[in-house]
Amino acid sequence: MNDAAAPGADSHVLIDKGRDYLVPVYRQRELILDRGLGSRLWDLDGREYVDFAAGIAVSALGHGDADVLAALHEQAARLWHTSNVFYSEPPLRLAEELVAASGFAERVFFCNSGAEANEAAIKLARRHAAAGGRPPERRVILSFEGSFHGRTLATVTATAQPKYQQGYEPLPGGFRYGVFNDVDALASTLTDDVAAVIVEPIQGEGGVVPATTEFLQALRARCDEIGALLIFDEIQSGMGRTGRLWAHQWHGVAPDVMTLAKALGAGFPIGAMLVNARTAQTLQFGSHGTTFGGNPLAAAVARVALRKLSSPDLLAEVERRSITLQIGLQRIGNERGIFSEVRGRGLMLGAVLAPAYAGRASDILDRAAQTGLLLLQAGPDVLRFVPALTIGEDDLLEGLARLDSAIGGLE
Ligand SMILES: *Cc1c(COP(=O)(O)O)cnc(C)c1O
Repeated sequence: MNDAAAPGADSHVLIDKGRDYLVPVYRQRELILDRGLGSRLWDLDGREYVDFAAGIAVSALGHGDADVLAALHEQAARLWHTSNVFYSEPPLRLAEELVAASGFAERVFFCNSGAEANEAAIKLARRHAAAGGRPPERRVILSFEGSFHGRTLATVTATAQPKYQQGYEPLPGGFRYGVFNDVDALASTLTDDVAAVIVEPIQGEGGVVPATTEFLQALRARCDEIGALLIFDEIQSGMGRTGRLWAHQWHGVAPDVMTLAKALGAGFPIGAMLVNARTAQTLQFGSHGTTFGGNPLAAAVARVALRKLSSPDLLAEVERRSITLQIGLQRIGNERGIFSEVRGRGLMLGAVLAPAYAGRASDILDRAAQTGLLLLQAGPDVLRFVPALTIGEDDLLEGLARLDSAIGGLE
């Protein structure tokens, strides 16, 4: 690993192609990732990185997991795709396994991404409300400031952050925003025209902000009172990320609908919407669909991910690693005065930059990449830590050491 090394010739050629040919909606770091194993990655120039990003909380089993690979290879040789006009075995098995693991759901709808899972949940909520047939008309989807629910027009409208919405007006109607974790404010926002509330048990993109138990309990109680649905977006917080299979299990509050994606496929694209008894019959024949959703290849991989990520041993390990990571971050924070708070749960942690470092998350990510650490931010002021749930203690400590030296190198 070379601290100041610039990308080599081949990398430069490829980075230039990225600049020339991709719609410039991202600002990738100047490196070309080439291969990975566990929680380490190598770029085309042979530089090695500790992976604290896991493809945005996706590669929860790390890179190159042997069981995932075996399932992928086996299914790839057998059958890739059928469309949902025909059954194949993997999604049927996966649906049964997800229902069993969920603790609340009766049925599953598969799709390809998080946004699509939330889109399905929003459509389901509107249908459910329409079928209720009692006044007043319920159309409103209530979400919360700082939330992130995806980039399609409906889900970006549910995403209550102006920066994601700007320029896409007119946005679809029937969305309202409340204040996250403010129970008192619900009196004026969670009113009887609300069809559904959608909320992340831990806001991810919004800065790694956990919901309080009181808030989730209040949402559940108020939804029950007025007949609205409660949707938990566990796309980032689910699949063992917080040390329980679902983050909402920490709060003892169950949703009517839960959306999943990210780690569900351990890196292979797949999303899912899980629905309880009350909502299991809401979407009927012809009311929704997708060509690729839950295809055999994706489902075969997701079955392995679900099995491995729901293992009690792995979940206990997540809690131990979380402590190592929190202690390491506190120490860096104390020594360098860079963090005002470390928050989150399990291996979904956020380190909030102190006022003197406000807005510098992106600089720190650049420095981190140069020192051999792949890291994410959650807004301009929060460093986000979402490594593989299988990350070893040694990788975690090495990553922390590299973070410390990246921060030390800040101008
Ligand atoms: C990533 C994410 C989404 C969107 O998922 P995509 O697969 O990018 O469409 C939605 N909700 C949450 C909480 C997420 O973290």
